[in-house]
Amino acid sequence: MTIFVPELICRKRDGMPLKAEEIKTLIHQYTAGQVPDYQMASMLMAVFFSGLNDAELSAWTEAMLRSGAVLTHSPTDGCKVDKHSTGGVGDKVSLCLAPAVAACGVVVPMIAGRGLGHTGGTLDKLEAIDGFRVDLTIEQALAQLERIGLFLMGQTDEIAPADRQLYALRDVTGTVESIPLIASSIMSKKLAEGIDALVLDVKVGAGAFMQKLDQAQALARTLIAIGQRAGVRVRALLTNMDRPLGRTVGNALETAEAIAVMQGQGPADVIELTEALGAEMVVLGGQAATEEQGRQAVRRALTDGTALERFGRLVEAQGGDADICADPARLGQAKNVVPVHATADGIVAKIHPKKVALAALEVDAGRRVIEDNIDPLTGVRLLVELNEVVTVGQPLAELHVNDQAKERSLALLSGAFEIADQPLDQQPLIIARH
Ligand code: URA
Repeated sequence: MTIFVPELICRKRDGMPLKAEEIKTLIHQYTAGQVPDYQMASMLMAVFFSGLNDAELSAWTEAMLRSGAVLTHSPTDGCKVDKHSTGGVGDKVSLCLAPAVAACGVVVPMIAGRGLGHTGGTLDKLEAIDGFRVDLTIEQALAQLERIGLFLMGQTDEIAPADRQLYALRDVTGTVESIPLIASSIMSKKLAEGIDALVLDVKVGAGAFMQKLDQAQALARTLIAIGQRAGVRVRALLTNMDRPLGRTVGNALETAEAIAVMQGQGPADVIELTEALGAEMVVLGGQAATEEQGRQAVRRALTDGTALERFGRLVEAQGGDADICADPARLGQAKNVVPVHATADGIVAKIHPKKVALAALEVDAGRRVIEDNIDPLTGVRLLVELNEVVTVGQPLAELHVNDQAKERSLALLSGAFEIADQPLDQQPLIIARH
């Protein structure tokens, strides 16, 4: 099809729909270098303001998906279910969830991301394990899926290349925060996994991409609708990101915490979220009839050692040191552990997730720009929980630090805690289910 890009931009700018074929041609030609960035940037801004209707959104997502390879699975594989989180602080759930759900008999092909800004990334947490490789080829990933029922890898150059180009352009043109553009970006990558079903963890709150419940709900509905139109069953949980998840932020620290969860220990909120998301995955994967049965199956896998055993096989298959499962201390430890203390008596009323994340970022536990190197051993360990009574001078958290300057980081960490006379009303961990 021949398109005249300025005319398409004007039409979208004026709130009129584009035809599916026009969108597919536009994205195809952009990926092939035949449409310049300045025209695509203008189109993205038009979409930012005018949105995309259902048919346009499906065409946009499909065009991004078809810009690269789609995993084709062996017919002997079982039902394939993945989980996607929109990103938060201390979210190590994928590390314990994927093996637990695989141990329940569901096949889990998981393509994960890296941390950027205040949000952490699953790939960075896995790379805290000595030798662990996330750069599997599609052939290696598919072979591993047949052998052990799961993989956890990074996006390859072959998967949704249009998304990589469009995301880079959005990042520098003020067009990231658009629900249709976010939703098509996420779903093009997830649909490329060749999955049958998907569970979404849409984070909402101060540490999330979507800070307001109505925005998070709109994103969840849009993601679900794209999935349904592509023949993939999608469920979404809206979950609380007004506080960090678990007790650790930082890569090796979080990996050790995920291992603790698979040893039947670990923080209650990480366990609750793993069970809730896992229950949805196990039901969608046909291994439980009800959510409650699914939850019990995941709980059993986390406590009877089968999730940890599956995690060990995953680590070994991807070249990592599987002895960390029995001895997480092998992950290593930062040189210095520096506490921050309560400056008043009272109740821990708030732990600001973004401030905790920025404290960790200051000591190189995360990256400001995609090219940054991270230090796998640094980060933050929280020593108190919300609503806990504390006294002045009591340690609230530890900063794990190597050689970095730490004053700014300590100030951020200290400022993350609000101590009050009364506890504040807290949203539940699982806010809604769609
Ligand atoms: N995550 C993605 O994969 N894409 C977006 O646009 C935003 C978050």
